[in-house]
Amino acid sequence: MQDIIQQQGDQGLAATRSREAGKAASHGTCPACSQPLGTDSHDLPPLWPRLLGGEYAPALFRSNAFCATCARLGDDSIDNNFLKNWSMQGQQVRSALSFLDRDKPLPGPLTYLGIAADYQSDDDTFCERWAGLAGEQIFHIHRNREVAWAGRVGAEASPGAIDAGSVTLRLADSSAYWSQVANLSVAAYFPHARRFIINPHHHGTSAQPGAIAFDALFAPRQQEWFRAAHHGRLTLHPDLAQRGPQRFLNKLALSLGRRLFGPSFIRTSQARQLRRNFWSASPQVHSGQLAEGLERASAAFGCPPGRLGVCGAWTLILGPLGQEYGLCLITPAGQAMYVVIADDPGEAAHGHAVAACVAVPNRQIFLGPLPLQKLARHQAGLESAPELARLDAMRLAPSQLPPRRGLM
Ligand SMILES: [Zn+2]
Repeated sequence: MQDIIQQQGDQGLAATRSREAGKAASHGTCPACSQPLGTDSHDLPPLWPRLLGGEYAPALFRSNAFCATCARLGDDSIDNNFLKNWSMQGQQVRSALSFLDRDKPLPGPLTYLGIAADYQSDDDTFCERWAGLAGEQIFHIHRNREVAWAGRVGAEASPGAIDAGSVTLRLADSSAYWSQVANLSVAAYFPHARRFIINPHHHGTSAQPGAIAFDALFAPRQQEWFRAAHHGRLTLHPDLAQRGPQRFLNKLALSLGRRLFGPSFIRTSQARQLRRNFWSASPQVHSGQLAEGLERASAAFGCPPGRLGVCGAWTLILGPLGQEYGLCLITPAGQAMYVVIADDPGEAAHGHAVAACVAVPNRQIFLGPLPLQKLARHQAGLESAPELARLDAMRLAPSQLPPRRGLM
């Protein structure tokens, strides 16, 4: 174990280890790589992605369960890949269009298009292309490559330094409202990147905070490419498209298990299975009998399971469902995904009730935990829960927003 820690080269963790070996033992080990956890994590990072409202998550969804290396790997690779997954992107757009404010532009999701095959660079950068909600084009030039998961084991998978890179936004022929939404979205997605607007004269957006005019950072040939690029040739890493949700669910389950059941959780057979999938090149998700368990629990409160999810929001349901303890994640369009956290929760789950949370990223809302009964009765129209009724009142139909003329 000592060798692995020293190979990792993480100065902070290595330095604290010898000094705080006793304390580290009492904090247990990282559920993803089995290294002893340090004691110096003062503020608890969210387990839920920042771009899906993680900053507003309650204590239940905050934890320093992972060591520094695995936490960084989780944020930079797993959460980002989940957000880039084509199916989850449609869900994010749906959520944004339901909960934008028609009077005040708010940041919304960007849609990942892929790696620009025709981008030529003189250094080792590459270009990833994204689109805004009204068809704005976004070019992210940086040096980060995908983490290669196959054959990786724990601490060897240090993702290295992160290159924030530069982002160029080409506004669409759309209203000032959508141009401001695009500008705010780029700032939210790439907070540390240098940001440019290539055509700031559209709707006077040059004065937006955080945006600076396009300058001589790029060679004239590259500038011309940004101006002329239309759809171009794109390649999509297959791992991004297919594995994103699976690895994300395994990561959430591992960290929630550690959060809920304490250090002994990682010695359970289910935790070992989650950990294998965390590092696997082809992660599987064990959903067990959770769907049936949730169906029974929901029906007991008078709500058909298909109506449990809050339309346009991310609904998370966590707790003992049937014989297993697990998480159900319902997307803004109502697609449910399940992952087992403990298949034999026994004593550990005694006294845990099923709880629900509701996240609306662009409204900076993360409600809950609420009892499942409260969510189910509200969604079935049997009783009104005030916090959920406030959400319902914010929801818009896409036709209530300014028209998106520039849409591709
Ligand atoms: Zn770790």
